[in-house]
Amino acid sequence: MSPAAGVAIRRSPRARRIQIRVAPVGGAVELVLPPGATRAEGLAFLKEKQGWIAERTANALSRVPFADGAVLPYLGGELTIRRTGRARPGARREGGTLHVSGRPEDVAPRVEAWLRRAARAEIEPLAGEKAARLGARHGRIAIRDTVSRWGSCSAAGNLGFSWRLVMAPREVLDYVVAHEVAHLLEHNHGKRFWAHVARLCEDAEASRKWLRRNGAGLHRYG
Ligand SMILES: [Zn+2]
Repeated sequence: MSPAAGVAIRRSPRARRIQIRVAPVGGAVELVLPPGATRAEGLAFLKEKQGWIAERTANALSRVPFADGAVLPYLGGELTIRRTGRARPGARREGGTLHVSGRPEDVAPRVEAWLRRAARAEIEPLAGEKAARLGARHGRIAIRDTVSRWGSCSAAGNLGFSWRLVMAPREVLDYVVAHEVAHLLEHNHGKRFWAHVARLCEDAEASRKWLRRNGAGLHRYG
């Protein structure tokens, strides 16, 4: 097999050396060529790194599509998706089961919509309560699907959160809300910022560690 089989090759004007990237979810391999590097040089590099690539792709997490029977993490527990096929559109949780109506192709968008609403229902009261504890006010809250960050706080005080946080343990979600709310007062990661975070949640360090270790895994779902 050619070393380039299944590898996406991309030229980047900003890259400074030949790079190989393996997506942590799905394991897609990309070869990045800097200006001046030839395709042959890139392929030689790929060949040289075959062992490393094989190891990385084997460790990459497989996707878990939102479909009948799939099991999702949910606030420290688990939810199993069951398609009910009943006509009334939507999703409804009953203990550890998420009943989703409709055709098979309706399941994924309905599960995601349900998780987005669940994320908002968890995050909004937490943000309000934590902001009040700091004597601050937050603006709008947006629930997004961001890859690079879990939360954001704009200069105007609008907050953004990934809906995937609802698949993290409750204390991790609580920490991310505390983090963004603390940015309402301190738009930096200085000493005073972390003191606010410490007032607003328990064991921020453990949650940060959890996100570093497991955060990419939340992107395998859906
Ligand atoms: Zn921050």
